[in-house]
Amino acid sequence: GIVGSFGHAVGDDLLRGVAARLTALVREGDTVARVGMDDFVVVLGDLAGVDAAGLIVRRILDELARPFVIEGHELAVTASIGVCLYPGDGNSPAELLQHANIARLEAHGAGGNQYCFDTPALNATVLRRQALEHALRGALERGEFVLHYQPRVSLKDGAIVGLEALLRWQHPELGLVPPLQFIPLAEETGLIVPVGEWVIGAACRQIRCWRERGLAVPPVAINLSARQFRSGELHGTIAAALAAEGLEGAQLELEITESTTMADVEEAVATMRKLKALGVSLALDDFGTGYSSLAYLKRFPIDYLKIDRAFVRDVVTEPDDAAICIATIRLAHSLRLKVIAEGVESEAQMEYLRRQGCDEIQGFYFSRPVEGEALAVMLGD
Ligand code: C2E
Ligand code: CA
Ligand code: CA
Ligand code: CA
Repeated sequence: GIVGSFGHAVGDDLLRGVAARLTALVREGDTVARVGMDDFVVVLGDLAGVDAAGLIVRRILDELARPFVIEGHELAVTASIGVCLYPGDGNSPAELLQHANIARLEAHGAGGNQYCFDTPALNATVLRRQALEHALRGALERGEFVLHYQPRVSLKDGAIVGLEALLRWQHPELGLVPPLQFIPLAEETGLIVPVGEWVIGAACRQIRCWRERGLAVPPVAINLSARQFRSGELHGTIAAALAAEGLEGAQLELEITESTTMADVEEAVATMRKLKALGVSLALDDFGTGYSSLAYLKRFPIDYLKIDRAFVRDVVTEPDDAAICIATIRLAHSLRLKVIAEGVESEAQMEYLRRQGCDEIQGFYFSRPVEGEALAVMLGD
């Protein structure tokens, strides 16, 4: 980011300085080329091997670490260097450049001002990630996302009192890709914002569709990612989706996690209040796996706590997990919140939770997440 941060005149002088130092380091017949705004390629012929390459690269970093003096200012430059060797790391200049660039990004990601060699393992991970990211970008346009719905039931009377919309990616070759394989990537790349917007719209369309068939549709819960929660567009997106399908806010619930609220608690509380004004309910998801303090919890305008399935799994056999579930139920009730246990897979778990006063359960014991059609049948169609 040399040029961007200093303006063009200083930037150009600095880049010329960098080029001069690089050229002074290499031998007659080697190549130094500037290939981008502040990207350089150095091609060294006839190296003795990996060690020789490492030595030169170290010297380049040392050379660039000495400050540059331009128009009376001392300027420091750091570089991230990716190294690849021919033959071995690639057969064509294009391939070598691609591999060097992958290694460079690795060096950059590791904090910069260092170098990284290309390795087959590094390549494989990065290329797989790039392929997945590329596919994910297209998935929205190609209509490859679908929502599945998992009912949750009241422990009082067994009625279906809510549905959770869970995103699935139907990839033509990879099949049904589970969210844990693509949500983190979507979150990192920012794709989660348009994808999340699609989820909100699709859930609302589905609700209207079910209603038009005369079904009584319980509130549908939507998972929000941290980035989506902080995007500033969320309120508008939800309001627009509700209006488009003629739904009232009470038809939706939003699930946020503790970590989503951590970055800026004041702002999170303000966002939650704004969302609540739409009439939606809020649930704190994966409760117990994050680090929210009880002081914050008291201030959150939420309606539900969802006990993470990590604590439910062994609730019948592990006293520690039982203690956490019981404490969560007591805590929630004393804050006048309802408690949902997720991941309930057996009658024994259900009975245990019922005895402890848990309000609602969700899990394979009652139903797996299913497609909209299958869910309509459960709703009595
Ligand atoms: P989550 O919100 O904690 O969702 C519950 C997960 O537990 C779901 O996994 C669900 O299929 C699974 N599950 C439900 N009952 C049982 C059970 O009895 N046993 C077991 N072993 N698992 C059960 P899924 O659908 O793979 O989703 C994983 C995570 O992906 C979700 O965790 C949620 O954090 C995220 N996710 C899913 N859909 C969306 C979405 O539309 N947007 C965002 N931002 N995240 C989503
Ligand atoms: Ca650059
Ligand atoms: Ca959830
Ligand atoms: Ca969970």
